[in-house]
Amino acid sequence: MKRNVGCPCGRNFQADADEEINLDNNPEFIEKILDGTFMSFTCPGCGKKHKPEFSVILVWKSKNHKLEILPELERGEFYRRKKDNSGIDTIIGYPEMADRIAVIRDDLQPVVIETLKYYLLAKAEETYPDREINAWYHGKDEAGIEFHLDGIKAGEMAVMKVPQELYEKTCEKYRKQKNDEIFSALHCRSYMSVQNIYRPDAFK
Ligand SMILES: [Zn+2]
Repeated sequence: MKRNVGCPCGRNFQADADEEINLDNNPEFIEKILDGTFMSFTCPGCGKKHKPEFSVILVWKSKNHKLEILPELERGEFYRRKKDNSGIDTIIGYPEMADRIAVIRDDLQPVVIETLKYYLLAKAEETYPDREINAWYHGKDEAGIEFHLDGIKAGEMAVMKVPQELYEKTCEKYRKQKNDEIFSALHCRSYMSVQNIYRPDAFK
């Protein structure tokens, strides 16, 4: 599908943007999502790079995931609207998309990763109550799961490691108590994210 991109230089150009992408058949998109070059377009007039966050559906059948990616700009509209695309998980914003794709690629449970982010953010907020802090999945090894927190110090990422044991304990807790307060708080209809806990009152 061709979509219009307007550049501050005054030029409007057409960008090729798929509405639905099958990641099993087109694995090159996984790399692009992870390295931030996905849906990145260059203005033919001035050479400026544009990342417009077009909405897109990602189908990853081998991992049993179908994701609807909405632009960050539609976050408010998502909370206001009442209906969801059935059977599709919602993700809002390209940074969250890259985060979730990495979690799925590494065969981790997204709901457990979001729970661990909540634990880390709750702790960081005790120390830095006035900061707006975000937590991102970074990777895993035998010892545990690495998260990066931004917003504590300008331009710096804080590296936090969660032991594998806590990941597994949280998986177990989710298996046994799906309706526990923390897991419910992570969900808003088709959207599961730690962002649901930190959303402003206007979106509740
Ligand atoms: Zn331009």
